[in-house]
Amino acid sequence: MRRLSVTAVVLVLAIVGTAAQPQRTARADSAEAATAKRFAAIRNDPLALLAFLREMPKGGDLHNHLSGAVYAEKFLRWGADDKLCLATTAIAIVACDGKTPQVPLADVMENQSTYSALYNQAIDALSMRHWPETVNGHDHFFQAFAKFGSTSSKTGEMLADVTSRAAAERVSYLELMLTPAGTAAFAASQNVAWDATIPLTQLLPQVRDRIMDGGKFSAAVKAEALDRLTKAEARRRDLLKCGTPAEDAGCGVTVRYIAQVGRGGALAQVFALMLAGFELASAATPVVSLNLVQAEDDPNALGNFRLHMSMLDFLHARYPTVPITLHAGELTEGLVPPDALRFHIRESVVNGHAARIGHGVDIFNEDDPFALLRDMAAKKVLVEIALSSNDHILGVKGKRHPLRMYLQHGVPVTLVTDDMGVARSSHTQEYLKAVEEQDLDYPTLKRMVRNSIEYAFADSATKARLKSDLESALTAFERLQSARAPKS
Ligand SMILES: [Zn+2]
Repeated sequence: MRRLSVTAVVLVLAIVGTAAQPQRTARADSAEAATAKRFAAIRNDPLALLAFLREMPKGGDLHNHLSGAVYAEKFLRWGADDKLCLATTAIAIVACDGKTPQVPLADVMENQSTYSALYNQAIDALSMRHWPETVNGHDHFFQAFAKFGSTSSKTGEMLADVTSRAAAERVSYLELMLTPAGTAAFAASQNVAWDATIPLTQLLPQVRDRIMDGGKFSAAVKAEALDRLTKAEARRRDLLKCGTPAEDAGCGVTVRYIAQVGRGGALAQVFALMLAGFELASAATPVVSLNLVQAEDDPNALGNFRLHMSMLDFLHARYPTVPITLHAGELTEGLVPPDALRFHIRESVVNGHAARIGHGVDIFNEDDPFALLRDMAAKKVLVEIALSSNDHILGVKGKRHPLRMYLQHGVPVTLVTDDMGVARSSHTQEYLKAVEEQDLDYPTLKRMVRNSIEYAFADSATKARLKSDLESALTAFERLQSARAPKS
């Protein structure tokens, strides 16, 4: 009876659906199963696994700070091209002013026999390479950013670099974090007093009106962001020879931007940066969202956390279509007092209106974490998982990392690189960690890849194209892998 009814269902499906559809699905299913089988067979063979993961289409990277994505060697090369110096005590790229002991970077790059030790020391200072366990990883990580020299003039070079590498690792979409209109936002915040004696319900509209200054703020942030991003995109196309027969595969990588809001600054400045992010993401610009950045344990970030969420709550009501992603729960026991671990993720989701959160590492220190997990699963709040970053900055990895708990509770997740240049990581390395340290299987990795496009903030037409491209790439990948799968 059972066999008969199954046959009947299959027959009905074949009649109702198109004739070709079930056949194609069945073939895809068997290729997926064979790929999962091959994955299971090689998962303990590090080199075969690396080759598999490198070749696997990975969709997008939704949490990627542009300057942090660049390897130190590039900053040193660009510094030499721009006639900058290397400060030999602080080990940082600086203007050549002779005020501190320094060597022209061009000399360092050209006389490797003399300067190889200094060159290597510089790479270590600008990244987590050879980071000694005796040095606090959190501080070494955040201090590295101050040593790059000025990055704003190199946006095009950085774009070319990260998109070229993304394509080589089969990543087709990047949401890159940068501060696209920092000058305009900073200038506008300078004339605004933050009067804490005024109730927030009056203060926030008042500060917003003052910063907006009619239409002046909106025009200024759009002009600054579009000027910088248009020039950078043109430079990227030039460097990658896009549109020529010699074009780099990086030309095919779709890029959108997320406006950074430095959360450690003065309140008026934080508000102005948020407002700039909302203005840009609600206008016709490639900026799609905003995110609070800088160490979550910074004293200002901690002290003003709830106030920052109130600012977002206020602005979200005025720009309800702008999606928000927030670094939340990038904390761990001992880094901050226990009270600070109890509410950041929930507040970010509830009051900050975050559609996605970055890290979410300390979720089991939140009040009623299981209710929060249920809520995040129901609302489909995606967690951007950054395994290398969490290990370096927080010392959280392996079983102490909550990735598997998010998966078990049905909270959507995806793998991200955060600052792969500083971390000396790559898209592939993050997948490798997910397998080796988190014990994930192929179907879970594939689900995370699909989430990286499903939860992207790009417009719906772009997402539809990216999704279709990803499915084609996955189908081709699985056919290739199934041909290599064990036969038994
Ligand atoms: Zn981040």
